[in-house]
Amino acid sequence: MHNRDWLDRSRAAVWHPCTQMKQHEADVLPLVPVARGEGAWLYDYEGRRYLDAISSWWVNLFGHANPRINAAIKDQLERLEHVILAGFTHAPVVELSERLATLTRNALGHCFYASDGSSAVEIALKMSFHYWRNNGRAEKNRFVSVAGSYHGETLGTLSVGDVALYKDAYAPLLRQATAVPSPDARAAKPGETATDVAARAAAALETYLAEFHESLAAFIVEPLVQGAGGMAMHDPHYLRLARALCDRYGVHLICDEIMVGFGRTGTLFAYEQAGIRPDFLCLSKGLTGGYLPLSVVMTTDEVYATFYDDLVTRGFLHSHSYTGNPLACRAALATLAIFAEDDVLARNRRFAKRFCVLLAPLAKHPLVRHLRTCGMIWALDVDTQDPGFRLRFYREALSREVLLRPLGTTVYFMPPYILDEEEAALLAERTLAALDAACA
Ligand SMILES: *Cc1c(COP(=O)(O)O)cnc(C)c1O
Repeated sequence: MHNRDWLDRSRAAVWHPCTQMKQHEADVLPLVPVARGEGAWLYDYEGRRYLDAISSWWVNLFGHANPRINAAIKDQLERLEHVILAGFTHAPVVELSERLATLTRNALGHCFYASDGSSAVEIALKMSFHYWRNNGRAEKNRFVSVAGSYHGETLGTLSVGDVALYKDAYAPLLRQATAVPSPDARAAKPGETATDVAARAAAALETYLAEFHESLAAFIVEPLVQGAGGMAMHDPHYLRLARALCDRYGVHLICDEIMVGFGRTGTLFAYEQAGIRPDFLCLSKGLTGGYLPLSVVMTTDEVYATFYDDLVTRGFLHSHSYTGNPLACRAALATLAIFAEDDVLARNRRFAKRFCVLLAPLAKHPLVRHLRTCGMIWALDVDTQDPGFRLRFYREALSREVLLRPLGTTVYFMPPYILDEEEAALLAERTLAALDAACA
């Protein structure tokens, strides 16, 4: 088979996600068939290769076809591929839950599983509301989130999200939620620091909570980096203040760490940098190293206890068919084992320092604004009004063996944690060349 065959069949039969399919016809948006992956590279059917600089939509941590994760899944496959998790349990889900709880220093000792990030956010929203309902406070049924935030594509998550491109068409289907100003450090006025912006945004949150806390179940936030909304980064101070405000006004704090969890921001979980703990922690994406769909909501003993009762309807009667899938749990356990065995966070710190040096020429580019970084995420805004920029840059990068998908005019890197010096240098150089070509 050649590339061409798969492209034609895919365009006819597969409705690709987040895509205006017509753009695939004229190759405005090229469709790339992938035959195999190895490490940070994807290979097509004709020997062309692409450096996966966005970790296959932010999920991959330790490369494609990672031998250790492969071995764990193969081993599990011979024992048990799946079993219903209601009324049954199995070693991988028990071990993973214990391991995750330990990683939160047992602040969040109860794991509820689903298969994707959006479902995890839905679960956190429902659990938060149900907690208040179980406590005789059913009027606490609304949510507040941050401007420009992204929490998924299902109706409930779109309701608390704030990215117009994904949300506007479905507005009549959504439940109104309020977005408070973002602590985005780019909003700093002359003389202001990122901490000042954080304090200003927290003051706006306080104003809102003071007025509406009686009807609010939870505040939901993407800690440190707001991803799909444009890689907006903020000072951890915001989370510290938000935690204190949620405590003062009796509102849950939901940390959506679906993108930022598992080392992306430099610590295993982003909330650690603020010295806080959330009431609900949503994890997915990197959880299985980018192998299998799995998500989890972790919560406290206190929340758990509110559902623990003789009355069935006080329980959390939510389920998904593949909840706690053993193969996915084994992939997650293998991923967490790599973190422990390889001192990944320390290696990432060294890599990040080096990559910042390699990006210096890009930072000096006359059209580049706000080059910013947090852990293993880098982003920059391109100063262009050209509506064709995004796709042109995408094609120019692909033609240079690099997979990068800008969000509007924001170009970002979210590489797997395994790039070597040569790959990092190639990524930096070719991004600069692609930018020049796209803006020529
Ligand atoms: C990707 C993402 C989601 C949604 O996860 P899916 O698995 O795509 O449903 C939710 N929140 C954040 C912060 C994300 O980055």
